[in-house]
Amino acid sequence: MAALLAKSSGTGVPDLHGFTADDAIVVRGARVHNLRDVDVAVPRGKLVVITGVSGSGKSSLAFDTLFAEGQRQYIESLSAAARQYIDQIERPDVDLIEGLQPTIAIDQRVGGFGPRSTVATATEIYDYLRVLYARVGQVECFRCGTPIRQQSPEQIVEAIGRLGSGARGAGLGAREGAEEAAKAEGVKAMLLAPMVRGRRGKHDDVLSEIRKAGFVRVRIDGEVFDVERPGEIDPKRTHDIEAVVDRVVIRGRGAGLGARGAGKAGKAASDADSRLAESVELALKHGDGALIVAYAEKFADQDVWHDAVFSTKYACPKCGTNLAEIEPRTFSFNSPYGACPACEGLGKRRPLDASGVPIEDEDFEDCPACKGTRLRPEARAVRIGRKGIHEVGRMAVGDAAAFFAALAWSDAERPIAEPLVTEIARRRAFLEKVGVEYLTLDRAADTLSGGELQRVRLATCIGSGLVGVCYVLDEPSIGLHPRDNARLIAALRELQQQGNTVVVVEHDEAIVREADWIIDVGPGAGRHGGEIVAVGTPNDIAANTASLTGDYLGGRKKISRRSERRKVARSRAIVLEGASANNLQDVTATFPLGVLTCVTGVSGSGKSTLLVDTLAPAILRRLNGASNGGPRPAPFTSLRGVNLIEKFVLVDQAPIGRTPRSSPATYSGVWDEIRRVFAATREAKRRGYKASRFSFNTPGGRCEACAGQGRMKIEMNFLPDLFVPCNECGGRRFDRATLQVRFREKSIADVLDMPAEEAAAFFDAFESIHRVFASLVDVGLGYLPIGQPSTTLSGGEAQRVKLGTELARVEAGSTLYLLDEPTTGLHLADIDRLMNVLQRLVDRGNTVIVIEHHADVIAAADWVVELGPGGGASGGRVVFEGEGSGDRG
Ligand SMILES: [Zn+2]
Ligand SMILES: [Zn+2]
Ligand SMILES: [Zn+2]
Repeated sequence: MAALLAKSSGTGVPDLHGFTADDAIVVRGARVHNLRDVDVAVPRGKLVVITGVSGSGKSSLAFDTLFAEGQRQYIESLSAAARQYIDQIERPDVDLIEGLQPTIAIDQRVGGFGPRSTVATATEIYDYLRVLYARVGQVECFRCGTPIRQQSPEQIVEAIGRLGSGARGAGLGAREGAEEAAKAEGVKAMLLAPMVRGRRGKHDDVLSEIRKAGFVRVRIDGEVFDVERPGEIDPKRTHDIEAVVDRVVIRGRGAGLGARGAGKAGKAASDADSRLAESVELALKHGDGALIVAYAEKFADQDVWHDAVFSTKYACPKCGTNLAEIEPRTFSFNSPYGACPACEGLGKRRPLDASGVPIEDEDFEDCPACKGTRLRPEARAVRIGRKGIHEVGRMAVGDAAAFFAALAWSDAERPIAEPLVTEIARRRAFLEKVGVEYLTLDRAADTLSGGELQRVRLATCIGSGLVGVCYVLDEPSIGLHPRDNARLIAALRELQQQGNTVVVVEHDEAIVREADWIIDVGPGAGRHGGEIVAVGTPNDIAANTASLTGDYLGGRKKISRRSERRKVARSRAIVLEGASANNLQDVTATFPLGVLTCVTGVSGSGKSTLLVDTLAPAILRRLNGASNGGPRPAPFTSLRGVNLIEKFVLVDQAPIGRTPRSSPATYSGVWDEIRRVFAATREAKRRGYKASRFSFNTPGGRCEACAGQGRMKIEMNFLPDLFVPCNECGGRRFDRATLQVRFREKSIADVLDMPAEEAAAFFDAFESIHRVFASLVDVGLGYLPIGQPSTTLSGGEAQRVKLGTELARVEAGSTLYLLDEPTTGLHLADIDRLMNVLQRLVDRGNTVIVIEHHADVIAAADWVVELGPGGGASGGRVVFEGEGSGDRG
């Protein structure tokens, strides 16, 4: 590696550091978004980190250039049906990309996983589980729980023989304690042909049929009678009636199956064998393929009778329920053969009204038919190690190891089961490697956080074993506690060492330091960025004084800290007691007011459950009243101190809007004011345009071809939806007449394209507009176009739009801000800036609580609450609560 990476004095073009298309992906003249016609080489087969401040152009290079072109080339290689869209797919604005490998993005969006995807299906674990259950599962009747076994008459004879050996064979349940007795005396047994199963009636016809067949005894509801004197049969009740075909004493396998009174072994034994075989055939004939063996076990000299049921058909020998053949698809909730018919395999549905129609405005609840398992009852009644496939699904990835390890296979099962279990174990190990062993196998993919989703995808890619692929990842460290970083790095390494190129957009210092090669994009954001500032090994970069990343790596810059922590007054605090949702173990936590608090802990330790699911909704309800206080909080016993705050603001990473029409401009509320600015121009007045003319939400001035969206969606059945610019307005979103109105030389569309930094200056004279954009600059979003569709913002960007909007508001005072992982997606330089903003909020008399893993944020906090010690069931406790020591984490 050293030889390859150190060839900067080689024969290639100097700006590519000696790399050529033979050993690198060579990009020439990339101009996507803010990239400034850059040339760069991405060494193939290496772990490459692209870093730089937010908005510098990292994602434009990694995703919008490398991945977009890789995807375009892939679609080009597909069928004609797919290629018809090729002309409409934007080719990235780049002169040339050479040496590009098939490219796969491992991103954080749910797209591609439907509502039916789970951790187990996404990783193919579920596919192997389905085959395992279909091939070696113990089938039970879903109505009465009787074990179902489709056997040949010969197998049945053999299984009956095992009754006599006392072995627990064939699911017959002969108890081990009876073994000695069985060997000594043999086991008394009756062979019964089931004639009536749980049916009402007097059944005279059945009794006469039994007589005609020449049998002399009959068992009615468990009691044996002479068939001529069956006693009184109540026609109003249900009955079980079997013909007693034969009575035998089973002396154990190998010892022969001696009929009652049989003497010596040898001929007598083989006579007994053939007699039993004949009786079994006879019972099956009259029992329509089913047979019951009633056999006695001795307990304290008493005979205790048990039934063992056998069938040559795929049907319950006891209640007669017919089963379809068990196949892998029986366990698929994506197939009508496996999906619960009530919820069609979703596991959830809306409550029904009296006439059985779903009530539209009710929340989804677990499907009552399948109890959320998504599966038909037939599928749930198949067991391995006493558990149904849905019960295995409820296990955490980490706990499933012990379950599979404890399974014992028969000689016949082993060759089928072991390869399947090995494949499951392999994939499980990948999930553990990426640090999500606390997730349950049946966890729905659409409920995972972006970081968790990405790590599940990463595990899937490692498991796929593909070679020669270029994987592109967007900040895989998001949401990971620093102590989980080592595992993530090992996983990225494994992917690379399989023979792939791994390109990671990342800020996390530990991962940046692990890279084989760093590409630093900058120097600033937006129009101040878009250049390749530095490339090289981590040591090269650390030594490079032109690189901001290098300044931090080399220790020349550090995240600034206040010289002293604030004084914490425990008496002025919000105290939450008895929080117990999910894995929280009766948690009590104190959040002092007027300080910066950091809540930390490993992934899955319960931080979000405590703060986002419990504390935040509980405070909102207390402040606003239960009727308009938003979602119901998760369970807790008491909450004190809410009277000490006036306002609560949750600054999370949820999108700021669900349609491409929402944007930072609309979310922050300045868009209406900007439209009024345009309506007040002389040109607008002359034409009679009101502010509504400048709306893309309502007809009047917007482009009607795209309904003001500026782009069109192309649905591709087998790939994520594609978006192409509207060919009517070319992405400008307004009609020509509206665009002719200008304010200070700019049209309304020009304004929407302005980065926040430029917009702040442009609207200098409008204090309320200026203040919002200046705040966006403060939180590090100066590069972000104010009309950028909210659906294209990262979670971190959405969060900072919310934070910036809050900052711009007139002081409310005594506000509590809760931020969920605000450093997500931030370069160290941006974190420095963000921390300054948060400290400023606290200095103004507010309280800030951040959920964070970042060591510098933990160090900057006045108060630290740490949950743990582990994730999932091994977490959920407060392991530290107290004043920040400055070096925790
Ligand atoms: Zn049954
Ligand atoms: Zn259901
Ligand atoms: Zn249009």
